[in-house]
Amino acid sequence: MLKINGLSAGYKNNHVLNDISLSADSGEITTVIGKNGSGKSTLLRAILGALPKIEGEISFDGEDLRVLSPIELSRRVSYLAQDKNIPDITVSRLVLSGRFPHLSYPRRYRKKDIDIAESAMKKMGIYGLRDIKLSALSGGMRQKAYIAMALCQQTDVILMDEPTTYLDITQQFLLADTVRDLANDNKAVILVLHDLLFALRISDRIVLIDNGGIGFVGSPCEFVSSGIPEAVYGVHIRSEENEYYYERI
Ligand code: ADP
Repeated sequence: MLKINGLSAGYKNNHVLNDISLSADSGEITTVIGKNGSGKSTLLRAILGALPKIEGEISFDGEDLRVLSPIELSRRVSYLAQDKNIPDITVSRLVLSGRFPHLSYPRRYRKKDIDIAESAMKKMGIYGLRDIKLSALSGGMRQKAYIAMALCQQTDVILMDEPTTYLDITQQFLLADTVRDLANDNKAVILVLHDLLFALRISDRIVLIDNGGIGFVGSPCEFVSSGIPEAVYGVHIRSEENEYYYERI
């Protein structure tokens, strides 16, 4: 279980998160929602220790993540960032780099690493593109390459910031299957999503960040009946057999 206790975090002159406590279970998909600028991405960056100002405790299964070196942390936590640069390398090279934290000196990829990278590319349906440069791919295909890289890292905690960016609806459903497989594999999957209905459909737990704090934690079903969709988003959400629909109010 990923556990966050009393987390405050932000940037130099911009304090964003205040006294956040929450947990994300292994085997579950926990999705962070909230208005633009509420601090969702900042929360993921804080878990990675990638912020100038962080206070509070962050642990996984009792191990303090804040004292780990970057390479130790990257064996436990993988992160799909929202804004990614496009290195001048092929798809297979990028995906294989997800194995880097697992290499010991002299850091040469082994057959095992190549096999893991191949199966991640096959899972994401990009094996046929393995020798293509990232810069030559569409946004959707490139996104899949980054997801395959994260899968390759084989970490217990997986953070994905807006993973559906650039994906068409078919690819979004495939992504939903992929993250569910990861949860079934007992990973703690933490997503940031702005698409509320998609978040409700695919998540076990919903966490709302509001005004730098936790505005709500609970199941999608509890979220729908919490009054928050109306108060925060100005919509009513109707649920029917695990499907969710917006209704005007
Ligand atoms: P969200 O992911 O919910 O849209 P963010 O976590 O990206 O929100 O941003 C939260 C707040 O932090 C916003 O006010 C944003 O302007 C600010 N912020 C984000 N990145 C930086 C940065 N690198 N430096 C300073 N402030 C930042």
